[in-house]
Amino acid sequence: MITQYHRPLTLEEAIALTSRPDAVIIAGGTSVNADPGRQPVTAVDLQSLDLAGIETDGASTRIGATTRLQDLVDSNLVPDVLRDLARREAPNTIRNAATVGGTIGTADPESELLAGLLAFDATVTLARAGSTAEHDLNEILDDPTLLNGAIMTSVSIPSNGRAAADRTGRTPMDRPIVMAVAHRGNDGSVRLAMTGVAARPVVVDPAQIATLDPPSDFRGSADYRKNLAEVLADRVLTTVTGGEPS
Ligand SMILES: Cc1cc2nc3c(=O)[nH]c(=O)nc-3n(C[C@H](O)[C@H](O)[C@H](O)COP(=O)(O)OP(=O)(O)OC[C@H]3O[C@@H](n4cnc5c(N)ncnc54)[C@H](O)[C@@H]3O)c2cc1C
Repeated sequence: MITQYHRPLTLEEAIALTSRPDAVIIAGGTSVNADPGRQPVTAVDLQSLDLAGIETDGASTRIGATTRLQDLVDSNLVPDVLRDLARREAPNTIRNAATVGGTIGTADPESELLAGLLAFDATVTLARAGSTAEHDLNEILDDPTLLNGAIMTSVSIPSNGRAAADRTGRTPMDRPIVMAVAHRGNDGSVRLAMTGVAARPVVVDPAQIATLDPPSDFRGSADYRKNLAEVLADRVLTTVTGGEPS
């Protein structure tokens, strides 16, 4: 239940409001407004901060935290695989409100975009009172308390390399049972991430796929998911390495 609403004009003001114990940050609001909870909260709406936009220096691409998912889909500065994963995240009505920061804050267990950002080894810039720090996205998903009292200002990914994604779902537009995405940097390093094999999107060591212990549900048993993981990982790794061993 929102009892106070603020729309700060500066990052400093937003950070000060966010330090309140009952503060809830609102970006696109598609997740927060769907379930604001029963406790009284102070809403801190980021929409008037200048945090949206996509820019690249050729080596890395910086995506502002309040950039809408539809803007990712439409940007030719964003790698094609991530554009497609953003498109698959939600219908266009939601994509025109939902943001990159909100996707990380929501940490949906089956988010394909989060898996893509993990494969690209994304770093997230967090601003808090008196400091700004960069964290690996993986670190934030492991420990969401890092977001307490902080505002995500941007997400950075490498601009170069080669990426591929593949999935198996009950229907083409259903959430995948298992999805794999891989990125190979220009230095030859390869990173694989998946959904449907753990409680959240995870980075997977290609040599350890046989040791995965996926959840089992009405869409697929653990054994079926493990088999899918092996097949899908092989496909995306073969695509990004051009058939070379990764
Ligand atoms: C019909 C529908 C379908 C959906 N389908 C999917 C789906 O397929 N996959 C999926 O992953 N999600 C899905 N969602 C959930 C949600 O829409 C997305 O996760 C969305 O990307 C959230 O973005 P937002 O900007 O609206 O977040 P908000 O609702 O504004 O915020 C979400 C969380 O992130 C925090 N947050 C937001 N921005 C920041 C910031 N800059 N700094 C710190 N914290 C921040 C908020 O405090 C909150 O905890 C769906 C939602 C709906 C209503």
